[in-house]
Amino acid sequence: VSGGAGFDAEFVGAAGPPLRPLDPGRRYDALVLGAGPAGLCAALYLLRKGLATGLLAQGVGGQLSRSAAVENYLGVGLVDGAALAERFRVQVAALGPDAGLDLEATAVERDGAGFLVRAGGTAYRGRAVVAATGKRPRTLGAAGEQRLAGRGVAYCAICDAPLYRDRVVGVVGGGNTGLESAIDLAKLAPRVHLFQDLDRLTGDVVLERRLREFPNVEVHLDTRVVEVLGEERVRGVRVRTGPGGAESEVALEGVFVAIGLAPNSEPFRGLLPLDQRGQIEVDAACRTAVPGLFAAGDVTNVPYKQAIVAAGEGAKAALSAADWLLRREG
Ligand SMILES: Cc1cc2nc3c(=O)[nH]c(=O)nc-3n(C[C@H](O)[C@H](O)[C@H](O)COP(=O)(O)OP(=O)(O)OC[C@H]3O[C@@H](n4cnc5c(N)ncnc54)[C@H](O)[C@@H]3O)c2cc1C
Repeated sequence: VSGGAGFDAEFVGAAGPPLRPLDPGRRYDALVLGAGPAGLCAALYLLRKGLATGLLAQGVGGQLSRSAAVENYLGVGLVDGAALAERFRVQVAALGPDAGLDLEATAVERDGAGFLVRAGGTAYRGRAVVAATGKRPRTLGAAGEQRLAGRGVAYCAICDAPLYRDRVVGVVGGGNTGLESAIDLAKLAPRVHLFQDLDRLTGDVVLERRLREFPNVEVHLDTRVVEVLGEERVRGVRVRTGPGGAESEVALEGVFVAIGLAPNSEPFRGLLPLDQRGQIEVDAACRTAVPGLFAAGDVTNVPYKQAIVAAGEGAKAALSAADWLLRREG
């Protein structure tokens, strides 16, 4: 089993010819939105069907790129998530899709019998669309949070923990992501405050046990962060604790928000119904309520948000799209 960034070094970097940019003058058979495991696997299947495929995403790899250690993707052993995503990308790139990999889709609309995807001030056309836009970290909605994002407020411990070496930090959230973030940070920071608004932690017992091994972690239960304090940079948080709701301040140089994920379904609002979590509803073949619009991976209501599930759903969405394209005219 190979691990870390050294995974399959010969394969990584073997990118082949540069990708052709997406062409606004072309009507693609299928536009795939998102280049995480779901979108890349969908593109792979569509391209192998010989369909004119455009890949549009805000970046490659999606959430997988933020995982330092993936050990449950069949066939690859322990691997750095970014290295695994790079492997996906190279495999798809070799089939020559048109691609815009730094484009945010802002709206998806009907366009006659097909679809129009608005991104970066341009519109791209597809007879079918595969939505694979995944999820993003949820925000707290606390005062000061937005203003100080990137200036002490962070959403990914795997990405940003090293920037907080030797600094007192906070983690908001007592589920798996919060516990993992606090464990990562406890190895670097002199003190880590973990805030959880419930009376117990809700992550896996094994993670909680590991967390308790760090003497520099202080867990604040029943404690809600109501404001992030600071002018230019974070200097602390104001919290409300217990049933009485007493308020106090905790001095911090960084605060990691780890309270779950929200689906990137905004571009599809108005076009199709979303479930109460904002996820796109799909049937067993990844069809949505709109003919020609398919969806896969974490943005959908399919349970178990995992890379291998997303990739499998991407394959299903592509095959459904190919079937649908085969049976219709225009
Ligand atoms: C820290 C962390 C660790 C994880 N560890 C594991 C693990 O060990 N094993 C495992 O199986 N799973 C793991 N997961 C879960 C796994 O990463 C996800 O289930 C998987 O990445 C979902 O794939 P996806 O393609 O559906 O969405 P995502 O990976 O979220 O990809 C979404 C794609 O859509 C793009 N996008 C989003 N909005 C837009 C827009 N408006 N316009 C254009 N593009 C857009 C993004 O840029 C990205 O390319 C982890 C997740 C995290 C956050």
